[in-house]
Amino acid sequence: MKQIILVVNCGSSSLKLALFDENENKLASALAERLNRNDAFAKIDDDNRTVVLPNGANHKQALQALVSTLRERHLMPGTPTSIGHRVVHGGETFREAILIDNDVVKAIEDCASLAPLHNPVALAGIEATLEQFPDIPQIAVFDTAYHQTLAPRAYLYALPESYYRDWSVRRYGFHGISHFFMANEAARRLDKSPATTSIISAHLGNGCSITAIKDGLSVDTSMGLTPLEGLVMGTRSGDIDPSIFSYLCSRGMSLSEVDRALNHESGLLGISGQTNDMRSLCELADQGHEPSALAIEIFCFRLAKYVGAMMASLSCLDALVFTGGIGENSSRVREKTLSHLALLGFNMDADMNAHHGRYSDGRIDDAASRFPVLIIPTNEELVIAREAARLAAIS
Ligand code: AMP
Repeated sequence: MKQIILVVNCGSSSLKLALFDENENKLASALAERLNRNDAFAKIDDDNRTVVLPNGANHKQALQALVSTLRERHLMPGTPTSIGHRVVHGGETFREAILIDNDVVKAIEDCASLAPLHNPVALAGIEATLEQFPDIPQIAVFDTAYHQTLAPRAYLYALPESYYRDWSVRRYGFHGISHFFMANEAARRLDKSPATTSIISAHLGNGCSITAIKDGLSVDTSMGLTPLEGLVMGTRSGDIDPSIFSYLCSRGMSLSEVDRALNHESGLLGISGQTNDMRSLCELADQGHEPSALAIEIFCFRLAKYVGAMMASLSCLDALVFTGGIGENSSRVREKTLSHLALLGFNMDADMNAHHGRYSDGRIDDAASRFPVLIIPTNEELVIAREAARLAAIS
């Protein structure tokens, strides 16, 4: 049967749509940004014509405008047969994707205290598509769900146990949709079954996380209660001494100012004082801007330390995988990171790395390396589309 799967990804001020057919071909994609502001903006990918949005458009208005534009331009051949939504936080309630009903909406609402910026906008997207396509199966796919296989030793903080019991304070992990895709795609490339493949997956975009995957399952990951923990990111600090929080408050900052600084003013942006964009940082570093060079050094050193840490969860390693905008495109980041890991047996082929693995099926390790090192472009939309089609078929 012909299928059209609509993938909806609501960010705090953005909305991304993608359409797939039953053969996993991408039919179209579209984007709205700066929502709830006067300069809200929308476009259909590969199309320079403007999409008119109401002033200060919200997620619902942007969805309506993009769907009608996709129809007008004959990019959406009929009504979707299923709709997949990316939802950031599924707490401990959701261990896998699920068909959305009233109880699921209520449970996503209940998780919103753990992701106050993200879950409410995902709900706005769900509400908008339910209104527009009331009879079509809608599926929620969670960023946290893949990490629900972590054992207590990996997900519990060394805090009084009542904090977990009473307030759900634990490590949840994020980017699960991308890490799950890596687990399957790495296995496919290595000609193995995902259920017997163990990898370390480094998702390096504006947000960054690394996951140890043992026999196809997530067993440790760097993000925690929120996406702030772990690696250095574009604007997030990643790991810091938690006492920095109270120390900065004692110097006159408020709790919300510290929270804002750690999430939005730190990471690559904070260290370089210039930008959170890795490509620009590399250019600045080449021009002799030392804080930018230092930002790259700190980013790669933290990442290398985490690769080592992730090995503690594994009894064998089939591949180290790089993905995300930085992981896929920055030969410098991969080279610097791997240079810290020679003792563990990682060895890189400089030429393959410079070509981003394009002529070597994604491989960038050399013959002396103990472990394969792979570059795999992530495809979270495809995972959501697959889950939506799968669950719609059995609904
Ligand atoms: P993402 O969030 O996955 O879209 O990744 C965004 C990050 O990828 C930004 O820091 C970009 O600067 C970085 N990026 C994209 N292309 C390149 C490139 N060619 N070289 C270095 N960094 C890149």
